[in-house]
Parts: sequence; C-alpha cells; structure tokens
Amino acid sequence: MLLASERRLIADHGRRMTADRLVVGTSGNLSIRAGDLLAVTPSGHAYETLTPELVGVHRLDGGAVDAPLAPTSELPIHQLIYGHTDALAVVHTHSTAATVVSTVVDELPTIHYILAVLGGPIRVAPYATFGSQELAGNVLAAIEGRSGVLLANHGAVTYGPSIEVAYDRARYLEWVCDVWLRAHSLPPPFTPRVLGGPEMAEVSARLGGGYPTTGRSREAGPEGAGAAGAG
Ligand code: 13P
Ligand code: ZN
Repeated sequence: MLLASERRLIADHGRRMTADRLVVGTSGNLSIRAGDLLAVTPSGHAYETLTPELVGVHRLDGGAVDAPLAPTSELPIHQLIYGHTDALAVVHTHSTAATVVSTVVDELPTIHYILAVLGGPIRVAPYATFGSQELAGNVLAAIEGRSGVLLANHGAVTYGPSIEVAYDRARYLEWVCDVWLRAHSLPPPFTPRVLGGPEMAEVSARLGGGYPTTGRSREAGPEGAGAAGAG
C-alpha cells in the first residue's frame, strides 16, 4: 500500500483525537506530507472506523493518487500550510477550550510559558465558512511565525515536523486555552498575569520546538540547553 506507515499514523491519530476529546463526531482532520504526496483524512468519516486504506493519498495540488473517498473539506488549509512552511504534518481540531477562546478574543496571550513551543501568543484567524479558500487564506496569514492558530468560532490548527509533534502542539494549545478560560473566570481582584517578551524568549531558547519526549542524556547538563529541537 502506498504511504502505508503514514496512512496508519493518520488512522491512529484520528482515534487519539476522539479519545483525547479534541474533536466531536467527524469534525477535525489530519494530514502528513511525504515528498510531493499527502496522506489525508477523508471528509466526514467516523474516526472509529477509519482504516489506513480509507486514508487518501493526494498530490500537493489535491489530485487523487490512491483515495477511495473525497479528501477533507479543509484540504485548502493543509495545502497552503505545506506550501508556505516547513510543515510535515497538520492537525485541525474542534477542541472545546480552543473553540471557546476563539469566540471572544483576537489573540491568546502568553498566559503560560508552554506557548513558546508554538512560537508565542496565538492569533485568531478571522471567521470564514469551513472548507473555503478564504478560511485557508485567513489561517495562513494568522499562523505566520507560529506553529498554531485559532480559527474564530471554529477550532484550532497546528503543524509540525511530524504528526506526533503537530498533535502534541494541538494538545498544548487546548490546555493553555483551558488555563486562560479558568484564569479569566475568577472574580476581582484576580487578574491573570501574562508573560512578557523577555520571559518567553528565555523559554524559547531553552525549549526550542518543544519539550523533549525521550528524556535527555545526563551529560547534556541541568538546563538542557538547546536540547529539545523538535523543529
Ligand atoms: P471534514 O470532515 O471535511 O474534514 O470537515 C471537518 C471540519 O472540521 C471542517 O472544518
Ligand atoms: Zn473544522
């Protein structure tokens, strides 16, 4: 089977998205880039019954190579991100806290240092109809310099050098949105504190593209300088 391991990873992460409550029903979508080809979720298919064979293989221009079903309606978002960044995987979720935040602000501020793994404060892309080229353009503009974005009144998109990293970023983004909502639900005199540029720059220098996921060698030193490099 063409792109067998990529198609299996897409099917596996679709089930993870449901189990981790990053999506409801058939919402959300996933893709992995392999050279000039994409493995992408089909549109409107339940994740529970999504097999690797049903995951489509398409060219970057969208043309079907080995795809029994129509690709995700958000293919334009995936295509634009691959066309303008070094992404090798894209994750689109409808997770609850991210969606709530997307309805009330234009930017998620750096309320937690982990946003450094996504590049800093996260912009909210202006609303446009799902699946539209307009929405894809809004997403691309808002994700500049970041690896994640919120979609107004819709959800979130993240990307990364692998499906595992892109997926972790979606989970971190959802968690920070949840923290933001809880901090903002406290009554006066409590006012959420936001981390500034210097604090975030120091975290970025330390973490690189993300937390390590396989530990660090003891020789690397206590601060893990330059350790993560998740890209
Ligand atoms: P698809 O089922 O076409 O991927 O659409 C889901 C979605 O989240 C649209 O924004
Ligand atoms: Zn969506």
